[in-house]
Amino acid sequence: MSKEIKTQVVVLGAGPGGYSAAFRAADLGLDVTLVEARSTLGGVCLNVGCIPSKALLHVAKVIDDAKEMASHGVTFGAPEIDLDKIRAWKDKVVGQLTKGLDGMAKMRKVNVVNGYGKFTGANTLQVGDTTITFEHAVIAAGSEPVSLPFIPKDDDRIIDSTGALELKDIPGEMLVLGGGIIGLEMGTVYRALGSKVSVVEFADQLVPAADADIVKAYTKFNSKNFTIMLSTKVVGVEAKKDGLYVTFEGKNAPEKAVRYDKILVAVGRKPNGNLLDAAKAGVNVDERGFINVDKQLRTNVKHIHAIGDVIGQPMLAHKAVHEGHVAAEVISGMKHYCDPRGIPSVAYTDPEMAWVGVTEKEAKEQGINYEAATFPWAASGRAIASARTEGFTKLIFDKESHRIIGGAIVGINAGEMLGEIGLAIEMGADAEDIALTVHAHPTLNESIGLAAEIYEGSITDLP
Ligand code: FAD
Repeated sequence: MSKEIKTQVVVLGAGPGGYSAAFRAADLGLDVTLVEARSTLGGVCLNVGCIPSKALLHVAKVIDDAKEMASHGVTFGAPEIDLDKIRAWKDKVVGQLTKGLDGMAKMRKVNVVNGYGKFTGANTLQVGDTTITFEHAVIAAGSEPVSLPFIPKDDDRIIDSTGALELKDIPGEMLVLGGGIIGLEMGTVYRALGSKVSVVEFADQLVPAADADIVKAYTKFNSKNFTIMLSTKVVGVEAKKDGLYVTFEGKNAPEKAVRYDKILVAVGRKPNGNLLDAAKAGVNVDERGFINVDKQLRTNVKHIHAIGDVIGQPMLAHKAVHEGHVAAEVISGMKHYCDPRGIPSVAYTDPEMAWVGVTEKEAKEQGINYEAATFPWAASGRAIASARTEGFTKLIFDKESHRIIGGAIVGINAGEMLGEIGLAIEMGADAEDIALTVHAHPTLNESIGLAAEIYEGSITDLP
């Protein structure tokens, strides 16, 4: 039987962007309907993205740390891998968080409608038999993995990030196609579990968005862990009974086809904007599926907002959350807008790579008059005591004002450390503010204060 719902705010998609918008709008006293096609809330991030990947990366870290301890006098036996138990642990983590969201939605009386929603007009959406009439809408439809036309379909040896997280088996030889964050994180997991992992990347460095010096330190550390083929592309995949035969072209291409047991395709994500019949609501969607918005996250149709992956790069959960809050606040009548000075990016690899604000690459492109100061972890007591000195901390300052405009870290725990730099950028701190902040000793965070001191000229005697 058909059903009709009238709501002040409908949110399409319950990922980090969508649930944040819905919860904030409900907290502000609005009547909210949240539409989600999946059976659980949380979107890509909680179900098949950030959270399950970090649960598996935790497993990988423990394995790697245990192995590494052998050189400091503690030897554990070879790890016994029980894939069913690892999968169950990952699913438990995901279940705990998605159930938590159910509770938070109920507590706020957010009406959750399960099904795939499409616009039928400027104020109406259809979800199965249910017609929803709304005053305001927030499109938070997210993104999905890009597939490549020349890669065979329906072969379960060829997987995307969702398939990799299912952890069906540990392949002997695995090719990660695409050296971005997602590919490297999943490669880290499979390598720790026992696969021989090769990574092929079309660009001349892994993680092309990050500064070259950061990536260089990561790549050097991992040269023993992965076979890395830069400036190289896959041009063909032949699926045979005994394996997948891959042909490469480019600077580091093997001469003959190489056999792999599994291929993880991690060449980026595409927005879901083209799947919503947005034109029926008058909302413009570009040819790639992105929806253009202003600083208040409004589309070209004033009462319809869009947030998260569907509005563009960087496709990150915390960006979607921030935008979700702003969109809800604007709908409730607040004069807020979205203009962060920096959105942190973190590759939870080993070592981690993290950056926020302006990268050196961007500063050069934008003609910003900047200076960078770097503190090498070879001089950090905590890094030495942790036997992880490959990292460094870099701060980027505006040359005239000495205000911090960016920062990047490569090393263990870089993602956790980055918060201090993000806050400093947002607060408009200058080098002296950071240098005069007393950092606890011995911490890796000290390297942030020390990089600022180097910039100020108070440290000159580094190794
Ligand atoms: P999504 O999370 O994509 O959610 C959109 C939701 O909308 C989906 O649940 C979808 O089912 C639903 N939907 C779409 N269309 C409709 C419709 N018409 N009707 C009803 N429902 C609909 N980001 C980080 O910040 N940190 C990380 O560590 C990180 N790790 C990642 C690891 C992996 C393997 C992947 C794939 C991604 C990772 N990301 C990470 C990216 C992060 O998951 C996304 O940026 C984030 O989920 C985007 O949030 P969103 O709300 O825009 O959309």
